[in-house]
Amino acid sequence: MSCVSDSSSLNKALRQQYLSLPQGPFCQVTYIWIDGSGEGLRNKTRTMESEPKSVADLPEWTFDGSSTGQSEGHNSDMLLIPVRMFRDPFLLDPNKLVLCEVLKHTREPAESNHRNKCNKVMEKVKGLQPWFGMEQEYTLLGVDGHPYGWPRLGFPKPQGLYYCSVGADRAFGRDIVDCHYKACLYAGIKITGTNAEVMPSQWEYQVGPCEGIEVADHLWMSRFVLHRVCEDFGVVATLDPKPMVGDWNGAGCHINVSTASMREEEGIEHIEKAIEKLSRRHEEHIRVYDPHGGEDNKRRLTGRHETSSIHDFSAGVANRGASIRIPRQVGQEKCGYFEDRRPAANCDPYAVTCEMAVTCMLDDVHE
Ligand code: ADP
Ligand code: MN
Ligand code: MN
Ligand code: MN
Repeated sequence: MSCVSDSSSLNKALRQQYLSLPQGPFCQVTYIWIDGSGEGLRNKTRTMESEPKSVADLPEWTFDGSSTGQSEGHNSDMLLIPVRMFRDPFLLDPNKLVLCEVLKHTREPAESNHRNKCNKVMEKVKGLQPWFGMEQEYTLLGVDGHPYGWPRLGFPKPQGLYYCSVGADRAFGRDIVDCHYKACLYAGIKITGTNAEVMPSQWEYQVGPCEGIEVADHLWMSRFVLHRVCEDFGVVATLDPKPMVGDWNGAGCHINVSTASMREEEGIEHIEKAIEKLSRRHEEHIRVYDPHGGEDNKRRLTGRHETSSIHDFSAGVANRGASIRIPRQVGQEKCGYFEDRRPAANCDPYAVTCEMAVTCMLDDVHE
């Protein structure tokens, strides 16, 4: 039995001939949405008569929610509402990738649609000019679920060689990283960097800083692009926060946060105020920092492997074993941003940025 995606072994050079055929005035638009798991992405493509110039030109669409864990069999039509449009790095210009919100037939947000609430909160705190930067860690696996490039029997050499590494014996799967980076730039995703991580076959890229809702939109689209690039190469990117048990680092999605007043001179006071507010809502944050109410992060936030314990809140300058880290430079310059290291790699960035704004920013709006 094999569950290999045979499509990855097809001749990609041959594919190029068809991709370069002229397509007339038509435009292929791929609608992308988050499914009922809160983690998975689904997509389907339609032809438009001409190139859409903005999301306002894109019609609503429907899909069968009973096949995505999003509705009962009867009354299964769910609505796709286009919210952000990108260039398509796979079918190329003028074709588009479009991120969508999912609504029920009543036009209420679907259970897994955390964007709706997030957007409302971001509108309220807009005046504070909140910036978010997210660090997406992920692990490459073969289609059989075995870590990509790891020996069939036994384990690679212990951690230490791999972080920011170069070389065939330590940097596993760079083709994916390079192609994903280029594809994101082409698409218009605000990707700002990438690095090899501590565990072999584990990588990171950063998105942002972006203002308000934008970071989560861009991060979700960057995840789609990652899975799509991996599909071409016949490997799988998992966002599991602890893919390998034992002495191997887990995968997080650190969130870096600032408001205009934190970025100004003596902004450290505002950073400290935010951290104080966060300390009083640790459990609430843990509950939304992975899609399973903290269950996934339980395996990762052990207090070891550059993490804090899931049970305690802590903060410190340059401390990578704390829940919240103030970067050293920010401590020295007395302004800038802080980092919350708790979100799991598979978190929903809408839920995370929303909770962050609710805890740290909402009550400052009225001050
Ligand atoms: P590290 O791995 O040391 O935690 P990275 O360089 O991987 O740091 O990530 C730093 C993140 O901080 C980036 O996502 C960047 O966009 C974000 N960032 C930088 N300045 C700000 C700021 N003023 N407000 C919010 N995020 C910021
Ligand atoms: Mn990083
Ligand atoms: Mn990292
Ligand atoms: Mn970090």
